[in-house]
This record gives sequence, C-alpha cells and structure tokens, in this order.
Amino acid sequence: METCTKATKAWLNTAEYREKNFAREKLVINPAKACQPLGALLCALGVEGCLPFTHGSQGCTAYFRSTLSRHFREPVAAVSDSMTEDSAVFGGQGNMIEGLKNAHAVYDPKVIAIFTSCMAEVIGDDIKAYLGNTKEQGAIPQDFPVALANTPSFKGSHITGYDSMLKGLIECLATPRQEDKINDRLYVVPGFDTYTANLREYKRLLKVMEAPFTLLPDYSDVVDSPNLGTYELYPGGTPFTEMNEALNAASYLCLQTYSTPTTRKYLASLEVPVEALNMPIGIAGTDKFIEAVAKFTGKDVPEEITIERGRSLDAMTDSHQYMHGKRFALFGDPDLLMGLVSFLLEMGAEPVHIVCTNSTPLFKKAMESLLTSSPYGQQATLYAGKDLWHLRSLLVTEPVDMLIGDSHGKWAARDADIPLVRVGFPITDRVNLHRYPIIGYAGVINLITMIVNTFMEELDRTSSDPYFEMMR
Ligand code: SF4
Repeated sequence: METCTKATKAWLNTAEYREKNFAREKLVINPAKACQPLGALLCALGVEGCLPFTHGSQGCTAYFRSTLSRHFREPVAAVSDSMTEDSAVFGGQGNMIEGLKNAHAVYDPKVIAIFTSCMAEVIGDDIKAYLGNTKEQGAIPQDFPVALANTPSFKGSHITGYDSMLKGLIECLATPRQEDKINDRLYVVPGFDTYTANLREYKRLLKVMEAPFTLLPDYSDVVDSPNLGTYELYPGGTPFTEMNEALNAASYLCLQTYSTPTTRKYLASLEVPVEALNMPIGIAGTDKFIEAVAKFTGKDVPEEITIERGRSLDAMTDSHQYMHGKRFALFGDPDLLMGLVSFLLEMGAEPVHIVCTNSTPLFKKAMESLLTSSPYGQQATLYAGKDLWHLRSLLVTEPVDMLIGDSHGKWAARDADIPLVRVGFPITDRVNLHRYPIIGYAGVINLITMIVNTFMEELDRTSSDPYFEMMR
C-alpha cells in the first residue's frame, strides 16, 4: 500500500501526469479565486455606517466573514437573511423583509448593502422588487438607503462582486451629477485590495501631493481598527457626505483595471471623467500613479516624493543581485499579477509560470505585451484560467526558485521544495503582512525585503559550513 502511494506520488511529479492534468476540462481543483459576494462584502465595509447584508444562505456569509477575519485578524460585521430549503422553493422575499427589518432595528446602520449568494440567483429572486415591497410594508423607512448588487458566484469572482457592489453603492447614495455642482475632488478607487497599508499609503501620498481626494471605498479602519478597549460596529469608511457627492467628482482614478470595469462604464455613461491604471506596484507603476495625481492637481511632484523614489531605487540597486536571473512562479488576481510581474522585470528577475484563474482576454493581451517588453519576460508563460493543481504540475516539472502568491500556494511550494513569499489574498498563516504596503515606492522596498531575505534565509538554512557566511 505504502509502495503504491509512493509510486502514485512520484507519478504526480512527472511530465506524463502534467499532460493529463492540463488536459482536464470539466474539473477545477483549488482555483485561485473566491466568490462574488465576498468581494461585495469587502467593498460594502468601506462606506461609513454600512452594514453588509447577504440575501442568501447563512453558510455562505459565514465563509465570507471567516475568510476575511482570518486574513485581517479582525471581526467582520455582516448579516444574512438566512435563506433555507423553503426559501429555495417559495422565494426569499419573506427572508429579506424580516432580515431588513431586524438589521435596521438592531444594528442601526446608515445604509445597508445587499448582495446575493448563489441560492438567490439560481431561483431568480428579484431583489429590487423585494426591496420595494419591504419598504411598502413599512419594514424599513421609505427613504432608508439600501444598495443592491447581484453577485451570482457561478460566474465571475470576488473582483466582479466588488465591482458590482461599488456601482450599487454609488447608484444608491450619490445625488445625480449636476454640471454646476462638480466638486474639486479626485475619487480614488483602490479596487479589490486586501492590504490596509496600501489604502493608507494611497491616502498619505495623496495628502503629500496636496490633492483633494476621496478614497472609495475605504475599509482601512474597519478591518484594521485600533484596540481601544471598546468595540465599534462602524469604525470608519468613506464619509457619507462624500458618497452623496460621488457623481459630482471632478474625476475618478481607478487603481486596478480588472476589478472596476462595471463601475467605470457606469461612471462614463454619466459623463464622469474616469481613468484606470494598473495597480501601482514597482517603480514604473508608481510613477504612473504619481504622474496621474500631479496631472490632476496641476502641481509639481513634491521633493519628499522624489526622495522616496530615490530611496527605493537605492534599495533596488543594493539588492538586485539577489533577484537578477532568479526564476519565479506567481498566481493571483489580474491586477496584482500585472504589478508584481512589472516589479520582477524591473529587478531583472524572470517570471516563468504565471497562473491566473481570473484571466480575461484583455488581461492576457496586456500581460503578454508586458512580458515581451523586457528581456527578462521571454521565458514566461501565462496560464489563463488555470488553477493551483495545474500550478503544482508546473512547479514540479519545470522548477523555479520561488513562488509568489497567497497562503493557498503553500502545498504546491512544499511539494516543489521552494519558498513561498506570501502576497495576495488570503494570507491566513502569517501575521501582519496586510499592514505593510506593497504599492508605491514604500511597497518596492517591502517587496524586496520579503523576497530577498527569504532567499537569504534559504541560503543560511541549507549552506554547509564553508558557505555559512556572515555577509550575504
Ligand atoms: S460559491 Fe455560491 S454557494 Fe458557494 S459560498 Fe459562494 S455564494 Fe455561497
């Protein structure tokens, strides 16, 4: 039996098995994505006084909450109207009416954000009509704001859900755009970003650049609140007044391209100026962000930021020799991968396997163009729509030096006997990583620190006495 297991395990590492693994069409094993409502929930947490509300199963809500809680190590407040078998037969209107009545009365939110789980979508619940009936019955006041998003998880992913909920929140809370009421603010949309330090870094940079801005959504204080001895149910978020003004924004800057297309289309349809950039990871990505903000303010880039940039370049120079020519595998969301690959190429590192379950044709084209633009991108292949079991086959048949991705990559990394540097979502087996920015010039230094020091740890752990050096 043991021999048989060993033989099977060894066979899993062969090129023959890899071919069979890549031939599978109907089965997905450990995809690198979460479901739509999880993204919707995170987005809803970023608005002041907002209570996320799942129209659907309680078990789904427990999954979203526990996954976010495990990543942020913070309580995640959200409710569900707990649809069960009878709702699947008769529809979930009764659940929604009772759920909204209780949520409004017990938790006293300023706004409720409703999104759906698979069950409600499969039976075709009309949440807009249900909301109308809820108000008609007096379960909640007629003028109480409730944002809606359909988030069926049999398509899309957490980034689609984030996008739909963001559009729903703007639709619900913003007053119509009026040309004589355009404000002076740049509305900055971070996209599905699980680094609270990234959100804080955006705010810091925007302040240094003296840009009037609104971060939308902003859950940095909600999922990373200080321990002051009392529990706050609604500890932060984009201010309500700025939500009301969201359609009168001077302009929008979306810092992820693939997690905001629906919102951008909606804004553009209302003639709100909107620009999208790749996530500002690495020097070139951050430069584009800084340039876009400087263009908006019409002011020069402050010296403080030029100095920061120089410090990051110095860190790159100090450590490029440890990354140059090293082979990497990566997996994650499209926006994160665009940024990370761009950063690796800047360091002379070689991305080899790039697995993106959430890939789209546009992303594929953009990634391939990024890879061909650098001599270090020539060895890379993007595996669009593939999962982490595919990734495992790649790692054991075409070895690399390091894997970059979230905690789900630890099994494949262990099987391939390579280190995993944790970047992405969820990170449930390390602490505090969400408190270190990976965007901006500061993010460049943090990424270098994580990656290079991991290589050095490996050297110290594996080198024999003559090579156990004080200097690395
Ligand atoms: S995929 Fe559907 S059923 Fe599963 S947790 Fe997500 S919403 Fe619930």
